[in-house]
This record gives sequence, structure tokens and C-alpha cells, in this order.
Amino acid sequence: MGAAQRWTRERLKRTLWELVNDPRVSIVYRKMDDCSAETHWWDKQRDIFVAVDPDREGLVRCVIHELLHVALEAELMNRFVYDLEEPIVDALETLIYQKDIALKKRVMDRWRKAIRAKLGEEDD
Ligand SMILES: [Zn+2]
Repeated sequence: MGAAQRWTRERLKRTLWELVNDPRVSIVYRKMDDCSAETHWWDKQRDIFVAVDPDREGLVRCVIHELLHVALEAELMNRFVYDLEEPIVDALETLIYQKDIALKKRVMDRWRKAIRAKLGEEDD
């Protein structure tokens, strides 16, 4: 195996989009102070639960933030303490969410739709 593939902005965006559409990723509403994501491992498989507070602004922003933690979990956890992980994820969230998603109506609509579909599944 060669060196690990480096993250680019495009690759990160593609990974986030794959995650939000991945059947192993659930998104639920939960009252709390902020968003959160939990990963549950089953052998080598994992299920990912992202919880968002319905009263807070920025559903898409919140999900992007949590999926960045998931996408970069291995790299960040291996190399940084949580104290440093959070500002790194915040910076990437600002770059990707504000510039590449929120400003582009079609992209934003696609994200909202994908997240709403996940939230709807939880009502069954
Ligand atoms: Zn965070």
C-alpha cells in the first residue's frame, strides 16, 4: 500500500454526500444544547447516529459538522486531542458549508432533502 490518499476539498465534499446517503447513517431529532454524532461499531461494520436539535437553526450546517467528525475520525483521533479536533472541524465546516453548500441553492436543497428523508425514516 502506498501513502494514504490526501484529503482534498472535493474528496471531502464527496465523502460527506456519500455519508448522508449511506443507509448506515441515521439522523434523529433530539433536544439538547448542540448537535452530536455517535458511532456504534459492530465487528467491522458501523452504524452512525447523528442527533440534531429541532429548535436550533442550521439543520444542514449541524449535519455537515457532525459528518466531518465521522469522515475524519481516524485521522483526527489518531493525531489530535479533542480540544484541537473541534476547532479543526469548525474551520472545515465554515469552508465547506458556508462556501460550497449554503451559497448554492441547488446544493443546499439537495442536502435538505437528503436529511429530511433520513428524519422521516425515523418516524416509522
Ligand atoms: Zn464538533
